Amino acid sequence: MADRYDYDVVVVGGGSAGYAAGRTAAAQGARTAVVEGGKEMAGLCILRGCMPSKAFLESAHRWHEIRRAGEFGLNVQPLDVDMPAVQARKKRLIADFASYRENDLQHGKFTLVRGRATFDDAHTLSVVAGDGSTTRLTGATFIISTGSVIRCVDVPGLVETGYITSDEALNSERIPESLAVLGGGVVAVELGQFFARVGAKTTLLQRGDRLVRNYDADVSAELERAFRAEGIDVLTGTKLLKVEQAGKLKRITFEQRGHTQTLEAEEILCAMGRDPAVRGLGLEKLGVEIAKDGCLGLDDTLATNVPHIFAAGDATGRHEVVHIAIQQGEWAARNAVRLARGSTEPMEKADYRLKALVTFTDPEIAVVGLTEIEAKEQGIDYFTAQYPFADHGKSLIAGELFGFVKLIAEKTRGEIIGAEIIGPHAADLIHEQIAVMRYHGTAADVATMPHYHPTMAEIITYPAEEIAEIVKKQANL
Ligand SMILES: Cc1cc2nc3c(=O)[nH]c(=O)nc-3n(C[C@H](O)[C@H](O)[C@H](O)COP(=O)(O)OP(=O)(O)OC[C@H]3O[C@@H](n4cnc5c(N)ncnc54)[C@H](O)[C@@H]3O)c2cc1C
Repeated sequence: MADRYDYDVVVVGGGSAGYAAGRTAAAQGARTAVVEGGKEMAGLCILRGCMPSKAFLESAHRWHEIRRAGEFGLNVQPLDVDMPAVQARKKRLIADFASYRENDLQHGKFTLVRGRATFDDAHTLSVVAGDGSTTRLTGATFIISTGSVIRCVDVPGLVETGYITSDEALNSERIPESLAVLGGGVVAVELGQFFARVGAKTTLLQRGDRLVRNYDADVSAELERAFRAEGIDVLTGTKLLKVEQAGKLKRITFEQRGHTQTLEAEEILCAMGRDPAVRGLGLEKLGVEIAKDGCLGLDDTLATNVPHIFAAGDATGRHEVVHIAIQQGEWAARNAVRLARGSTEPMEKADYRLKALVTFTDPEIAVVGLTEIEAKEQGIDYFTAQYPFADHGKSLIAGELFGFVKLIAEKTRGEIIGAEIIGPHAADLIHEQIAVMRYHGTAADVATMPHYHPTMAEIITYPAEEIAEIVKKQANL
């Protein structure tokens, strides 16, 4: 069918998912176009997501360490946070990353088409360029990788009073005296801790009963304990009632456990999530199912209910992180090429067994595979064991006393099905468990693998030994 069309695969959106999809389809020899409508072409991760937020956090965490220098017998005199310099460093880094990505897009083995795309019909896109000109292109298959938009929240008075989102926060050169953060997800806790550490009196207001609900409750409790210890106020179980101006401050009225309370802050950071950017593409008129929450109805090959239209990345509304956006882009591209070629080869299924999520707070949080909550939901019989950093030699030396490591293993052979780490270097430490899980390793494998002493990495052997021991006893019964 592909010969009837200009391209075998047309990818809409050239961020992390779209670039991966375009590169993968083109590498298979498919005639591929990537349509990118942004003024800048580097995608959310580089421009307004991972990289700018991590550049900010690097400054905040270093500043925190400098202020702790006395604990380590070092006499230093912390001076000040130079926020314009923090911002300037971030801008320099982002400009470099963005230029690499633009170069990759411009010199990919696919055709890059600049402009905003909308569907005319099931196989035709209109692409309107910045100068107003329109190009029409046809495709045998499509991959929607248009990313996400900041979720609008309906709180009386919020829009009139004014607030910032992660976009403005990451472009800011000012530290507010006080900051109220609405939300308790990854972006809320990362940026909340950033502003708290550089000097803003920060309060997090979370609707649910705990922060970071993608992790288990004991992880949330530990993060809340760490935040409170450094002076960040965490208010959970809140219902926002209204927002209004109160002199130079913004006043938030909310309910918590049946009591109406108010909080005043110089600035409000609204970080209540993102929604898939799939409205306005004309998908509805093609009969593509979009659920009430804005997520596309996808099967496990990443196809929508209109079989030649696939999706990848934040646009799917599932697992909004970069490495999964890239994997989804690759899976969708290989499936789109199969379909365009009329291949009888079976379609590739998305596999989230090794899904990982990291939160770059201090303590850092990382998970791979299943949390305990997910294991329970799936009816899996599991063992779990955990060990605190506060009882581990290398972390005591490093003065890192918050957090723990936790392993989750299925009961028959003790295969690791999930790992959660909250504590120092969690983002890096989790990769050992990603490798173990990839090869279906067991707790006994982890316990008997050599780990250098004294390192942060060796802490994982303690819960692994505990589970391996239980599995051994069980086998001998
Ligand atoms: C503050 C913040 C911090 C984050 N930190 C991390 C982190 O540390 N680690 C992590 O893994 N993830 C992080 N994320 C999430 C991560 O950035 C996203 O999951 C990822 O960038 C999504 O990639 P994508 O390709 O799906 O979307 P995007 O990168 O948003 O790409 C979508 C592209 O589609 C284009 N587009 C949209 N509509 C059209 C159209 N109609 N026509 C043509 N083009 C169109 C857009 O211009 C855009 O370039 C963070 C997000 C935020 C907001």
